[in-house]
Amino acid sequence: MNKDKRLQILTRLRDDNPNPQTELNWSTPFELLIAVLLSAQATDVSVNKATDKLYPVANTPQSILDLGVEGLTEYIKTIGLFNSKAKNTIKTCQILLEKHNGEVPEDRAALEALPGVGRKTANVVLNTAFGWPTIAVDTHIYRVSNRTKFAMGKTVDDVEEKLLKVVPREFKLDVHHWLILHGRYTCVARKPRCGSCLIEDLCEFKDKTEV
Ligand code: SF4
Repeated sequence: MNKDKRLQILTRLRDDNPNPQTELNWSTPFELLIAVLLSAQATDVSVNKATDKLYPVANTPQSILDLGVEGLTEYIKTIGLFNSKAKNTIKTCQILLEKHNGEVPEDRAALEALPGVGRKTANVVLNTAFGWPTIAVDTHIYRVSNRTKFAMGKTVDDVEEKLLKVVPREFKLDVHHWLILHGRYTCVARKPRCGSCLIEDLCEFKDKTEV
């Protein structure tokens, strides 16, 4: 895909949604970190249902640590992989208290050193909580980038690298939300809704649908 088409796609996505937001509920970097950690292989809706009950009771490293693994599990047991997520969350809270004064570090290496936090989670936290121009590539972004030929790559890391190269600076802060939302609601996995897609004329997918 050429530069001009990419620019048109980004401009259209921005015009359509000038201030895109994550669909996870959060009000502090810590709440966002835990919500993203809980969201691995789970829907944002399921995470919000759990955190809407958890955060009024415990939304700091110390208060979640005080719940313990069992207490925390009661709040998150409706979310997939809740056992390992409960353990990782408790360990993460311990490390935040021991090494970072109970704050979420604005530092990629420190974030990725937390249990259950990989590159994608670190990218989301740096981008959404701290305003870094990072691009977290999840399954939606990977699919949309390859299908449209906007930024092709064999792995999520390849796609992230390509996106960082081809997306102009002014769009970097928001591009990951635009692409996620586009993949979640329009360019869906099984049967993309090309007929109602606002970038249909620019997308280079060969098997477009009429729906
Ligand atoms: S035209 Fe179809 S394949 Fe292309 S981005 Fe839109 S929904 Fe996805």
